Order: sequence, then C-alpha cells, then structure tokens
Amino acid sequence: MSASASHPQLVSIDPATGEAIGSVPVTAIESIPRLVFQAREAQRGWGALTHAQRAEVLRPAAARLKAEARRLGELASREMGKPLPEAIGEANYCADGLAGELDEIVAALADVVREDARVASTLRHAPLGVCAAITPWNFPLLMPHQSVIPALVAGNTVLLKPSEETTLVACEYAKILNEFLPPSVLTPVFGDGAQGRALVLADVNLIVFTGSRETGKRILADAGPGLKRVILELGGKDPLVVLDDADLDAAAAFAVRNSFRNAGQVCVSTERIYVDARVREPFLRRMVERTSALKQGNPRESGVTVGPMVSARQKAKVVAQIDAAIAAGATVLAGGESREGNFVAPTILADVDHSMEVMREETFGPVACVQAFATVDEAIRLANDTPFGLGAAVFGADVARAGEVAARIHAGMVGINQGCGGADGCPWVGAKDSGYGFHSGPEGHRQFAQVRVLSRPK
Ligand code: ADP
Repeated sequence: MSASASHPQLVSIDPATGEAIGSVPVTAIESIPRLVFQAREAQRGWGALTHAQRAEVLRPAAARLKAEARRLGELASREMGKPLPEAIGEANYCADGLAGELDEIVAALADVVREDARVASTLRHAPLGVCAAITPWNFPLLMPHQSVIPALVAGNTVLLKPSEETTLVACEYAKILNEFLPPSVLTPVFGDGAQGRALVLADVNLIVFTGSRETGKRILADAGPGLKRVILELGGKDPLVVLDDADLDAAAAFAVRNSFRNAGQVCVSTERIYVDARVREPFLRRMVERTSALKQGNPRESGVTVGPMVSARQKAKVVAQIDAAIAAGATVLAGGESREGNFVAPTILADVDHSMEVMREETFGPVACVQAFATVDEAIRLANDTPFGLGAAVFGADVARAGEVAARIHAGMVGINQGCGGADGCPWVGAKDSGYGFHSGPEGHRQFAQVRVLSRPK
C-alpha cells in the first residue's frame, strides 16, 4: 500500500513487468462497521425477496460480464500474471455459467416438505444475514464470483474483500453486479489482511473465505467468540498416484498440465507425484519432454503458457523450497532456477522425500515433485501423509483397482484418470486441513442459508 497525499491507495503491480497499473483507495478500517451496518439495513429489503426474484435481479449481469470478458480478462492477466487466454476464459466461464448457476441455487434452496403421521413440516432456506466474502488472487474473478453469487441469492447482503494483489479486477467485477443490485447489497472493501480481519470481527453472520490454511485458522479463531458461520476453502498439497499399468502419456500430460497451470498457483495443483518404481523412468522422460515444450514469458504474449509468480514474496517462498530440496539431495530434471523478475522456471524435482518442506507444505508454484513407490500400500500411505486433503488423482488402466486406491486417499475430491473436478452439481470440498464447510453444487449452496423448520399438527 502507498499513502498518497489525500488517501492511502492500494497500488496494483503487473508481476510480469513490475509496472504499476492502477490503484484503488484503501477502505478505512474505521469505516467498516458502518459499511456492515448499511449492509444489514439493506438486507431487510433484499432478504424479503424470494430466491427466484433475487436470481432474476442478477440474471442480466451474465450479458454484461460476457460483453466485458475481454477487458476483465486483460486486467486480470495484467494484475496477476496468468496467460491472457486463460484470464479471458475465466471471465467467460463466469458469464456463461451464471444463468445455470442461478437456476441451480434457486432449486437447491427450495422448500422441502417432510411429513409423518402426526406432523407436517416445511424446511426453509432463509438468509443468514450479512456475509463477508474474503478471496485470494489466483482466480481473481472466479473466486469472488463463486462466493458472492450463492450468498446473494440466499438473501444475504455481501461485503467482498478481494485480495490486495487483484483489487482492480475485483472492483470492475463488483461494479458490473452493482449495475443491477440495490445499494449496499454488494459492497467492495479494499485492503489487505487488516481490512479482512476487521470484517471478520464486525457484525457479520457468515464468512466465506478462500485462501491459505494459516489465514483460515486466524479467521476461525476470530469468528469463534461470535459463533459466526464460516466456509473455509483452504490450501492443498494434492497427490497424483501413477500406478504401474497407467497410460503414461496421459499421466505425464496431466502431471505437467496440473502442476504448471497458472504457474502452479492453484489450490488443486498437483504438488506431489508418486510413481510406481517400475514405470518411473518412462514416466519422467515423458514429463521432461512435455515440460520443455512449455513457453514461459509475458502472459500477454501469444503462445505463452506459464507466466510469473503473482509477487516477489510468492516467488521467494517457492524458490526457497526448491533450493532447500536441492540442497537435501533432490535431482533437478527441469528448471530448478529462479529467473528474472517474478519468474520461476517450471521445475521437476525427482528423488524427493517427506523430510523436505517441498513435500510437506503447500508450494503454490510451478514445481512438480516425483517420488517412486514400491507397493500400492506405500503409495497410499505417502499420499495420505499430509495435513491437507483437497484434491487428488490416481492414474491406472485397471479402473476398478485405481478406484480402490482413490477411495483410500483422504481428500475431498479424487479423480481417476482425470483431475479432481466433479460433474456439474458436485461440491468443491476439502477434507482435513483443506476445508471447513464447502461450496458449489446444491449441498454447497445450502451452506449460505439458515435452515428453518416450520411444523404444524396434521
Ligand atoms: P494468499 O497467500 O492467497 O495471499 P491469504 O490467506 O494470506 O492467502 O489471503 C487470502 C485473503 O485473505 C486475502 O484477501 C487477504 O487479504 C485476506 N486476509 C489475510 N489475513 C487475514 C485475516 N487475518 N483475516 C481476514 N482476512 C485476511
């Protein structure tokens, strides 16, 4: 943050070039209780509408998001460094999916009637009140979108505190929704962890947070005394298990794509790869070949598939993990070096083990670590030897066997011969330290509502 003469500004830096690309005024901490009060006042009218009415208010935003997808994508790419087509794709994904998402939320929150011989009951999904949505920078449009839309349709008013790394694009996103929403129903709050914390401590009823495990713990502690509801989508250390009968081309293609996409800054990036020792060599050869075909550079240049780290701080963290692993005996098969500016070369480390930080802590960078196993039981033990449990993948030609391995991995989402993302309607859910509450799909949408049971005698 920098203090200009008039008001402190949050300045956004292009991580590929180091240039300042714009700024927004920081929200004063002292003003946050007032903003929350205004959101509470606005909630009375907003919460009095039906789910379907609220969905109709938001529906026309899809066309506006679509019309602005290129501009939003360009801004997101400049602000966080992801390749331009991916950033535009993220904006289009939000726009194209909105209508279906609204229908899914309305259906998920419909009344449910339960009757027995004596009593007829109706389960209602009522608003919770005021929601704080605190989001990270790695999907600077999708993360706010997935938090804000279900919260609003459920009848809550929302204060959105986007990451300090990507405020400009979140500001533009909120402006578009606010073309349609009544005043104070969606209020952006700009700042860093101090503003986030002030929101959590303010008079809010629900906190929806996506970010690091450490920040998640702080939020939970701050929310505890007020018994505030929390939805925490935290980090991961996703394993990929490559069985001896796996299609090695497919497994290597997945490993490279899912380790290096968004420069590894994805909560379900593949960070640990366990490969059967019998297929280790051919698998690694394929990974190295595919990695050498990646093009790293300015994310707005055509053909670039790997951009920079979002910030110098993030780069330093990733480089420290790589350097420590190399010093402890890891073999570098690709990359391994830090480049100019915020760039880290896509890196493959072999001969790693769980004594190394790079196999224990979330890396959130373009680093794929490969460890061989001798038995399937060993692979499962290693995959589960982590406090995290977000996503996982198992590759093997015998799908029944791969499925049995998948079922023994303690993660919220496990893919068999694919990534961890489920079919439409499945929640985004973490196990162990990766999550506390969850979102998306009917089960996820219901977490934004207060269940109320109204009963009468028959
Ligand atoms: P990242 O490594 O993705 O920046 P963080 O968990 O630090 O992960 O940040 C995610 C979001 O949480 C950001 O919007 C950040 O400003 C916010 N944040 C950081 N610290 C706190 C806190 N103590 N309370 C609430 N929000 C916080």
